Amino acid sequence: MAEIIDGRAVARKLDEETKAQIDAMVAAGMPHPGLAVVLVGSDPASEVYVGRKLKKSTELGIVSFEHRLPAETSQDDLLALIARLNADSAVHGILVQVPLPAHIDTGLVLRAIAPSKDVDGFHPVNVGRLSTGTGGIVPCTPLGVTKLLDTVFDDLTGLDVVVIGKSNIVGKPIAMLMLEREATVTVTHIETKGLADICRQADIIIAAAGAPELVRGYWVKPGAVIIDVGITRRKTADGKTKLVGDVKFDEVQHARAVTPVPGGVGPMTISCLMANTVQAARDQVAGKSGDGFTISFDDVPDRSMFTGETQD
Ligand code: NAD
Repeated sequence: MAEIIDGRAVARKLDEETKAQIDAMVAAGMPHPGLAVVLVGSDPASEVYVGRKLKKSTELGIVSFEHRLPAETSQDDLLALIARLNADSAVHGILVQVPLPAHIDTGLVLRAIAPSKDVDGFHPVNVGRLSTGTGGIVPCTPLGVTKLLDTVFDDLTGLDVVVIGKSNIVGKPIAMLMLEREATVTVTHIETKGLADICRQADIIIAAAGAPELVRGYWVKPGAVIIDVGITRRKTADGKTKLVGDVKFDEVQHARAVTPVPGGVGPMTISCLMANTVQAARDQVAGKSGDGFTISFDDVPDRSMFTGETQD
């Protein structure tokens, strides 16, 4: 039987670490990290996601600033709000929930967020930093995937990783993170030929296609590790909704380890968002963010633990 990688447990541990970091920051005289969450319109799924993010923020000691705007909000008004949040020293992270209404240019809005406050890691500056291995904020789901792999492997050097899906928010950043870890990475997508054969070579399969139960047992070599990012909502016979991953879970029990859906990657995403917010706050306090949105905390009693400066 494959080991089941318990994403809920790993996320809980990450939350504890994040909370401990926040407590230490506050004890050192810094403000609580602040996260602004912007929701335009009332898409039901977005409402659920935003609600969860706000709840988790409160649990961990992150101050949340909620901006719920009507669906007819103009692009200019939204950009003006982002400019205000960029300049607000109490806000360390800005999250604009997507999808945005059709009349708003999503790319333009996401690019308007200061890179140092872009806790989703979608800004081209952060994408560039990730792809050049020069730091920046890493998108939450890909970050969560690496943290789950870290529960199985000490080292990914030389391992063959196949990523299924090449989206900007999941597949590509995962591939970049795996390259940073010295894995050999094959990125595949809907037009890839012979996907089953490619997957059969993999030590690690990361499925992020949104294609339910795409990865079959015969695609997986014995002892491989599988991370299932996919989430598809399916109606069951009794009218309920069931979440289905990209992997046919029952067929891959010859794998070494596999993430379940739900309870695998999903819980990691929101916990990584919280961790990113704390990182953003620390970098802004330490003046390391490098895009002009640095906060001066001359009156902070002990900055050394965040800046690497020593007291002596
Ligand atoms: P997307 O639609 O933007 O990209 C899907 C990618 O998969 C594309 O590159 C496409 O070419 C590829 N693909 C689709 N069908 C394929 C197939 N049959 N064979 C091979 N490749 C195929 O989706 P996304 O935003 O990257 O999300 C991917 C999945 O991950 C979705 O199910 C989404 O719900 C899920 N997701 C989960 C989390 C989480 O927190 N667990 C977060 C983000 C996305």
